[in-house]
Amino acid sequence: MSEQTYDVLIIGAGPAGYVAAIRAAQLGMKTACIDDFIGKDGKPALGGTCLNIGCIPSKALLDSSKQFHNLTHGFEAHGISAKDAKIDVGTMVGRKDKIVKQFTGGITSLFKANKVTAISGFATLKANRVVSVKAADGKSTDYSATNIIIATGSSPIELPFAKFDGKHIVDNAGALDFSETPKRLGVIGAGVIGLELGSVWKRLGSEVTILEALPDFLSTADADIAKVAAREFKKQGLDIRLGAKLGKAEVGKNGVTLTYTDAKGEQTLEVDKLLVAVGRRAATKGLLGDNTGVKLDDRGRVEVDEHNWTGVEGIWAAGDCVRGPMLAHKGSEEGIAVAELIAGKAGHVNLDTIPWVIYTEPELAWVGQTEAQVKEAGIPYKTGSFPFAAIGRAVAMNETAGHVKIIAHAETDRILGVHMVGPVVSELIAEAVVTMEFKGSAEDLARIVHAHPTLSEAVHEAALSVDKRSIHKAN
Ligand code: NAD
Repeated sequence: MSEQTYDVLIIGAGPAGYVAAIRAAQLGMKTACIDDFIGKDGKPALGGTCLNIGCIPSKALLDSSKQFHNLTHGFEAHGISAKDAKIDVGTMVGRKDKIVKQFTGGITSLFKANKVTAISGFATLKANRVVSVKAADGKSTDYSATNIIIATGSSPIELPFAKFDGKHIVDNAGALDFSETPKRLGVIGAGVIGLELGSVWKRLGSEVTILEALPDFLSTADADIAKVAAREFKKQGLDIRLGAKLGKAEVGKNGVTLTYTDAKGEQTLEVDKLLVAVGRRAATKGLLGDNTGVKLDDRGRVEVDEHNWTGVEGIWAAGDCVRGPMLAHKGSEEGIAVAELIAGKAGHVNLDTIPWVIYTEPELAWVGQTEAQVKEAGIPYKTGSFPFAAIGRAVAMNETAGHVKIIAHAETDRILGVHMVGPVVSELIAEAVVTMEFKGSAEDLARIVHAHPTLSEAVHEAALSVDKRSIHKAN
């Protein structure tokens, strides 16, 4: 057992860990990053869930399936017809794998360029800032560091009565790798993963049924955008059943038989494949040895203060394994902030302005408080909204569903939340984040020139609408 010493040792090479590693190295610190993920080719792969089995591969499949769907359903309005369009799922998945490899390989190159040492294996934190790493061959090596950043991410929650078997009952990673389009796909959980991956396979021809335990659809989103999304998903043929409590999932010869109860009583549903997407939990199992001083909360997350410090000298944590939304971009910003704090600089992440995006069609994106939250807090407010149906660019694109909604303080006009459903709102939300980060008002947005004809005019008009002075709709 040898012991190697670093200025910064990072556990986890996902969006929080690898970004922290690059920033720490940029700041002149001797840095190493440990990760145990093994890619489809059997070799260590950097980038964590996001690059390997999350954000990037799901976007690749969302794009492929959108192209196919347009070819078979969306292009007639443009006068384009294509007979006998086919999808080769193997080629589609292969393209996704190539994209994943390009990006995970990109992190390897970035580590080399920045002189970050990549260490492959499972890390356990011990007392006195020592980390023991067990490699694939079973050998353990100890490393020590002045600073340690825990960025171990999260893993899918498994339901005890619908355990993942990788064949019939799968998690997000399994649903990215079906070898053919399942005839009937069941999804447990109408959250981000359920809706995105449910959309992928629906567009390719699956009959998709989503069972959601809660009585309201997308209850974390603003009710107005959730309503539009529910309407559009229904039109697309996604069968979303709310208030559905799953009792059991039995794997048989013909797939999986689900038994659940809803308002109508006990129901059964037969599917060929079942995706369980009921949320994720912090990946902290086996992370802490004895007497580290690091504490986990009741949900297994590493306890940290507002600066991502664990309260133990030199030990920090960032990303999905700590409080706050489980989003790649939130983790990356925390990784940067921690590296900068370690280097004696200012580092801070404003959790109030983290954007959310769901990459369905239409897309959903929001930042800040929902109208229900503002109302509940007793804050005086006003709202403005504008439909994409009145935006020239959206009409030209034939993507008119949805709107932009802005919530502003009734007295100060400061923007409290921006909620969007519609075409490419994943990109439009950035303007709202910038405005909120600079504590801007609806009037600020209303006075900024927006290019014509663009989708961003919906943001401009919604800001004008807060003051009932929209130009292109009746106020
Ligand atoms: P989620 O929290 O978004 O949704 C889970 C859903 O499952 C909820 O609606 C919940 O009410 C429901 N549910 C829970 N238990 C259930 C049960 N027994 N039966 C039926 N429904 C049940 O979780 P997710 O979709 O699994 O995603 C996990 C995490 O990954 C999220 O935190 C998400 O932010 C992140 N993620 C983000 C993106 C993105 O940013 N676009 C994409 C994928 C994942």
